[in-house]
Amino acid sequence: MTNDGVYAYSAVLMGSPILLKLFDDNPTLARQVFQLIKQQENLFTVNRAASEVMSINQAAGLHPVVVSDAVFALISVAHAVSLLPNSAFNFTIGPIVKRWKIGFQGREVPAKTDIAALLPRTDPHQVILNPADRSVFLQQQGMEIDLGAIAKGYIADRVQAFLHQQGVQQALINLGGNVQTLGCPPHEAEGWGIGLKKPFGGDDELLGVLRVQGKSVVTSGIYERYFELDGHCWHHIFDPKTGYPLDNELLSVTVISDRSIDGDIYTTLLYGMGMENGLAYLADQPDIDAVFVTRDRQIICSAPRYFHFQQIDPAWQLRY
Ligand code: FAD
Ligand code: MG
Repeated sequence: MTNDGVYAYSAVLMGSPILLKLFDDNPTLARQVFQLIKQQENLFTVNRAASEVMSINQAAGLHPVVVSDAVFALISVAHAVSLLPNSAFNFTIGPIVKRWKIGFQGREVPAKTDIAALLPRTDPHQVILNPADRSVFLQQQGMEIDLGAIAKGYIADRVQAFLHQQGVQQALINLGGNVQTLGCPPHEAEGWGIGLKKPFGGDDELLGVLRVQGKSVVTSGIYERYFELDGHCWHHIFDPKTGYPLDNELLSVTVISDRSIDGDIYTTLLYGMGMENGLAYLADQPDIDAVFVTRDRQIICSAPRYFHFQQIDPAWQLRY
């Protein structure tokens, strides 16, 4: 237990540090939460030979695969978001992700011709979903679904629902970039404090702290999984049109929303829109807020309805 009455439990799952904060000493509940995350990882992972998503990928160009309710539901959402006009989100980006291997052993800048050859295998229109039998069919051989941009959000919401079901009123789960909260911590009227990392800074270096209550906070940045070569930073959020990492003025996008799955979707969509278009888009979205961090050292908050921002690093310019 720490001074503020928090009991923290940690694990490494989905290649990410996982942190659970409770206000009771309840290792049994923590074990159940990690078990739930593990179960979900086993359904969605594409980093092992076997999972439900891998069976769809392995049957690409061959036959449809019947999957569980959870996998069909998440794929249906990912499919719909991928088909939005000008969407930067594409859940069939798998062949590109696997070719670059950013964040994994053997990462490299692929030859232009390799990328050009893979792009036709990343067409979300070529995914056939059949709700009648919950089957998914990738029409072309070599197609691969990758839910890396959305599954953590879905899982964070599942953990939140499980904790609610167990009668927990105040808790926080951090899946590494996806934070979901329940209620407000006791003795902290301003809510949970969630650090906004300084891009390319040390582990403890923060630009500031976001204060929220019962909200999800999701950050997507180019500084978590990347490598440098020839003075260029190659990161893991790809432009589905080019097959290269998205290249604009942004270093990170943070979305504050009720559901973490929405946070996960919108971080990618807003990343693709860029700061100006993203802010204009948010003006018509009453349910989400966002914080953009730019290469020219600005922190830009959309009209903050669901959070407060406390700046820490004065070297960055804060704008609303
Ligand atoms: P986001 O910005 O939310 O997502 C970026 C990720 O989405 C990329 O890594 C890529 O997978 C995918 N993506 C890239 N561009 C696009 C695009 N335009 N549209 C849609 N998707 C895109 N990491 C490990 O190191 N080892 C593991 O074993 C491992 N297992 C995992 C299992 C599961 C079930 C999940 C969900 C993740 C796992 N990860 C693992 C982490 C994973 O590889 C990604 O790095 C992580 O999900 C990225 O999340 P994010 O919030 O940092 O980034
Ligand atoms: Mg995301």
